[in-house]
Amino acid sequence: MIVSGKLKKWCVLLGYLKPYSRLYVFDLVFAVLEALSTLSIPFVIRDLLSTVGKDNDVGLSYLLGRSVILLVLIALIYVANFFITKYGCLVGAFIERDMRKDLFEHYEKLSCRFFDKQRIGQLISRITVDLYGFSDFFHHASEELLIAVVKYLISFTILFQINAKLSLALIVMFPAVMFISLYYIDKMEKASIESHNKIAEINEMVADSLSGIRTVKLFGNEKVEIQKFNFFNHNFVEWKKYMFTQMSKYFGCCFSLMASVMPLVTILGILIINGGDKGLTVPDITMFLLYVGILLDPTDRLLGMAQRFADNVAGYERFLEVLSEEVTLKNSSSPAVKEVLKGDITLEHVDFSYDSNTNLVLSDLSFDVKAGTYVALVGASGAGKTTICNLIARLYDVNKGRVLIDGVNVKDWSLEFLREQICFVQQDPYLFSGSILENIKYGCPEASFDDVVRAAKDANIHDFIQGLPSKYETEVGERGVYLSGGQKQRIAIARGFIRDPSILILDEATSALDNESEYRVQQALERLCHNRTTLVIAHRLSTIKKAQRILVISDGKVVESGKHDELLAEKGIYATYYMLQFDL
Ligand code: ADP
Ligand code: MG
Repeated sequence: MIVSGKLKKWCVLLGYLKPYSRLYVFDLVFAVLEALSTLSIPFVIRDLLSTVGKDNDVGLSYLLGRSVILLVLIALIYVANFFITKYGCLVGAFIERDMRKDLFEHYEKLSCRFFDKQRIGQLISRITVDLYGFSDFFHHASEELLIAVVKYLISFTILFQINAKLSLALIVMFPAVMFISLYYIDKMEKASIESHNKIAEINEMVADSLSGIRTVKLFGNEKVEIQKFNFFNHNFVEWKKYMFTQMSKYFGCCFSLMASVMPLVTILGILIINGGDKGLTVPDITMFLLYVGILLDPTDRLLGMAQRFADNVAGYERFLEVLSEEVTLKNSSSPAVKEVLKGDITLEHVDFSYDSNTNLVLSDLSFDVKAGTYVALVGASGAGKTTICNLIARLYDVNKGRVLIDGVNVKDWSLEFLREQICFVQQDPYLFSGSILENIKYGCPEASFDDVVRAAKDANIHDFIQGLPSKYETEVGERGVYLSGGQKQRIAIARGFIRDPSILILDEATSALDNESEYRVQQALERLCHNRTTLVIAHRLSTIKKAQRILVISDGKVVESGKHDELLAEKGIYATYYMLQFDL
């Protein structure tokens, strides 16, 4: 199970590598070339040294010839390293980009339920910090591994030819290094996952604190925030400390073992010569030591890589974790087809909860709204009005029952079509950083400038925009901080109007407007409501009174329904609510 899980993990990675396989193969070929060139140099050196041994007067042309060979080899090493570094790194960057793209696309697909539970700072951390460096590491790792294998194979073959006894002594040392590596990699990986978590916590805390900076300042809580930050920052260092302890032990063990190789080989070599082995000469030992040097180099790099492996795999695992998060709000595979929606809305015995099945926000809720009617939802705060709108717009799926639009379950319409046909202006509209024009056009990217102006006029915001120095090009600031609550709401309404939707849902969308603005938006709304279903959640009497039907919601149920006068006459909840609100 674990093995298949691990296998799957690396198969996913191979999938990312596939589009760049040609470049990658070139990269590996150059890696081998680099290894072979490096390995050839000691040959030439031995040749030179042994010639000196035989005949002290080495010819100049001979020396020149060998120098040219050495130069060619060195040039090859330069070219190979250049290619490996540039294109290998590029392959890595491409993979990193693709992983980020997939993760972001996955984020966009995940349902609101997922985001209710997640912290934005954490999600940012996964797409930035966690992926950063992984791809770079990945391609380096594979090159290093290949270079190491080539160097090991060739070096050991040559070493065995020089002297078998010495080589065997060398081989014995390698399992020790392997064992130490595996032991510490495991520990380092665990520590690394934790330090990635700690960084994500810092991200989350900073995102939260900076988003709420105005509240922080109003409460004079800068010090409290700094203390919170220091706590997380301190935690991070604590985990790093643990990680560095493991790393130090690991590097300490490995490098001392490595350092003992050369002296050991020299002493053993001398012992072998003393023992009367005529097959071993001083140039042989010199060459042996040169090859040991070549062996030590990839070993050294592999050890460093093992440490980075631990760190980067932790990030990769966190990436896979989010990617495996199921998209619960699925788009219909064979959606119903219609040009435009008529706008009949029906809720049938709907149960709904945001988290568990026990904590029902709506239970056994049923009502219907005829196409083209103007309906007001009224009820105390927390009664479930916004939740009902969320379900109609299919931001969430119901636990039980059905939500039908034009007699078809919302699950059977395609999400794109549903979102295109329903305009939902939320209680707390979100404006994106950018200009007013961009924000209104967000509702309909292909809209012309005239369409934007028309929508702005309908939302009663055009005159205000015209009064700004840059008019429609005025920046709104992050989340629209440069604007007042009412201005933001009217831009959000314009953004909704521009879509020309079949169903219009306004969730307290006019709550921040002054009486006059509201009156004007109301007038525009009356024009726009014509022939489309409109659901309005509002507290103002003027808005509610105009409704063809009022649904009174209490504890997730429709408790009263009818026209304003009828409901007043009933002397029920609506009547009380009305009396309380207007102090009658
Ligand atoms: P209303 O719009 O009528 O004021 P809501 O529909 O927003 O009420 O909320 C109904 C209930 O659902 C409230 O008790 C609220 O606490 C809960 N609720 C709303 N949104 C969420 C959410 N995203 N996650 C969990 N509970 C929620
Ligand atoms: Mg609400």
